[in-house]
Amino acid sequence: MAGLKKLIAGNWKMNMLHTDGAALARDIVDGADKVGCDLLLCPPSTLVSWIAETASGSPVLVGAQDCHEAESGAFTGDISAAMVRDAGASYVILGHSERRHGLGETDSRVRTKVTAAHSAGLVAIVCIGETEAQRDAGETLDVLSAQLDGSLPTDGDGDAINGANTVIAYEPVWAIGTGRTPTLEEVAQAHAHIRAHLEHLLGEAASDIRILYGGSMKPENAGDLLMIANVDGGLIGGASLSADSFLAIAGAATA
Ligand code: PEP
Repeated sequence: MAGLKKLIAGNWKMNMLHTDGAALARDIVDGADKVGCDLLLCPPSTLVSWIAETASGSPVLVGAQDCHEAESGAFTGDISAAMVRDAGASYVILGHSERRHGLGETDSRVRTKVTAAHSAGLVAIVCIGETEAQRDAGETLDVLSAQLDGSLPTDGDGDAINGANTVIAYEPVWAIGTGRTPTLEEVAQAHAHIRAHLEHLLGEAASDIRILYGGSMKPENAGDLLMIANVDGGLIGGASLSADSFLAIAGAATA
C-alpha cells in the first residue's frame, strides 16, 4: 500500500468556458514538472477534447465527470464512455455525490457505468461517501461497504477490478464544497476500512487501487490529509479552479 504514486484530480464541475479553461489547463501543464504526483483534470464534457489537446505531450491526464452506461442510442444529453475516450480522456468520474443525491443515481447504475468505462479503456474513479445523517447515526463504515459492494462490478461478469482501471474516491457528502472536513482520525478510519473491504472483494488486487480523499481539500489541509495511510491522493472541487491552489495541493502530495 505504501508507495502508490499519489493522484491529484481536479473536478471542475459545471465551471469554465473555453478561454478560462484553456488558461487554467496551460498553467497546470506548465507547473506539472515541479510535482512528483500524477495530475488529472476533469473539465465539463464540452471542454474535454480541448483540454486533452492542451495537455497533450505533458504528463497531465484528462478525464470526464460522467458517462452513460450504454454504447450509443437515444439518450439525449448524455455521452458514452467511448465518446469520452474519443475526446482524448483516459479517466471518468462515476457516482459523484452530486449525481447520486442530485440526480438519483444508484449503486447499480454506477456499476453499469464502471463496466462501460472499462470496456472503453477508461479508468473509472468511483465515488463513495456518507451523508451527514448517516455519519451522525454511526453508519459511515456500513454505508461505504454497501456502496463498494453495489458500485463495483466484482461478480465475475468479465470485468476485473484492479489498480490500472479503477480508483476509489472517498468523499463524505457533507464535506463537499462546505469547507468542513472529517478529522484526520475519521479519514484514516474510513480509508483503512475501504482498503480492507477492497481486499475482501478483490484479494491482492486491492493493494494497487488508489483511494483518494475528496471534500474541501485545499492547500492548507492537504499536507495533513495526504500523509494519512491509505490516502493515495485527492479529488478536488473548488480548489482545482485555480492553478496556484491545485498545484500547491499537488506539491503537498509530493512532499
Ligand atoms: C468534489 O466535488 O469532488 C469535491 C471534493 O469538491 P470540494 O473540493 O469543493 O469540496
